[in-house]
Amino acid sequence: MSSTCLFCKIAKREIPSHVVHDDEDSFAFMDIRPIRPGHVLVIPKQHIDHFSDLPEAAATKVLMIAQRLAKAIRSNLKPPRVGLLVGGFAVPHAHLHVVPMHDGHDLTSQNYAKVVDGKVAYDIANIPPAPPEALAEMAARLKNQA
Ligand SMILES: [Zn+2]
Repeated sequence: MSSTCLFCKIAKREIPSHVVHDDEDSFAFMDIRPIRPGHVLVIPKQHIDHFSDLPEAAATKVLMIAQRLAKAIRSNLKPPRVGLLVGGFAVPHAHLHVVPMHDGHDLTSQNYAKVVDGKVAYDIANIPPAPPEALAEMAARLKNQA
């Protein structure tokens, strides 16, 4: 996978990008389709699909770089918030989005969306609160594995 992976090629500079960080094991570059100006992607150079499969040191390094970039974004661009997101549907190489947020729904879920008067409106109220029993059951499933 690494020989054909878009992000591996970017990290090896086989494909040009607008680089904001480059070290022995991590790389950061401007997203070519920014949610907001200043949207950056931080990746480990090692090809691993899921962020949750990264060795802890690699995950920590990616988060440290993202935190530094978030500070740079805040001081340069002055957004109200900087959001972090791990998705991975578009490119199967672990990456962390660092996004200047000017709206609470710059990073959001389609589950917040509802069509109102012919327009998509986002509101957390569009998701009903989960029953406490369901939350307790899910917490019990997850808590001993973290
Ligand atoms: Zn890759």
